[in-house]
Amino acid sequence: MSAVAGPEAARPQAGPRPVVELDAVSRSYPGGVRALREVSLGIDAGEMVAIVGPSGSGKSTMLNLIGTLDRPTGGNVRIDGFDVAKLRDRQLSALRASRIGFVFQQFHLAVGQRVLDNVADGLLYSGAGASERRTRAGEALARVGLDHRLDHLPNELSGGERQRVAIARAVVGGPALLLADEPTGNLDSASGAGVMDLLRELHRSGTTVVVITHDREIAASLPRQVAMRDGRVV
Ligand code: ADP
Repeated sequence: MSAVAGPEAARPQAGPRPVVELDAVSRSYPGGVRALREVSLGIDAGEMVAIVGPSGSGKSTMLNLIGTLDRPTGGNVRIDGFDVAKLRDRQLSALRASRIGFVFQQFHLAVGQRVLDNVADGLLYSGAGASERRTRAGEALARVGLDHRLDHLPNELSGGERQRVAIARAVVGGPALLLADEPTGNLDSASGAGVMDLLRELHRSGTTVVVITHDREIAASLPRQVAMRDGRVV
């Protein structure tokens, strides 16, 4: 994406490529709440990581910073090599649209839109034309096992299926990072397990996945855990 192009040329070719780099990152809120306190964390391309901690430990704050939805009050955030502090809001939106796929607890699908178009909308900022967007959406839906549901509306699907659609939308553009916020929080345990299996499968095929969860069991099932408490990594 040209709006944020540049740093790639200077990127070293050898070694693991960092996708998330937090360097002594702090986030304070007005009123003096220190939600994150000098957190340093690196996540490389191809990793699958759980960010786990109890309510109030700073997970959402971390998600917002990694997802470039918010900026730190101290320290440095680099996402896929881009220094967030050096980007204007518009460039940051472009970075977010092109490099980060989001999955939320509440799915956030467009209710009146069929499944295929929900996923195709994940490519709205990619420059792809409408027919290419639909073709690629169909492929992404096949990856999540829903190619037989293309013309259904979200409310005709189960919770687990809706979350699979949301995952297809998040990965359809081939993001550097898939960021999932309590992805099983709204699902029964069987559908939740299916969604976690799907995320693991995407990881095996090379996607970098970060899952934010308060659930220790889910966290323990992932290759790496980053535990949070009181705004710090412990
Ligand atoms: P978690 O996602 O782990 O529950 P949060 O990142 O939401 O944790 O919150 C960390 C701390 O920051 C909590 O003490 C919370 O009350 C506080 N906090 C979060 N958002 C705000 C905000 N917008 N304004 C003030 N305090 C906030």
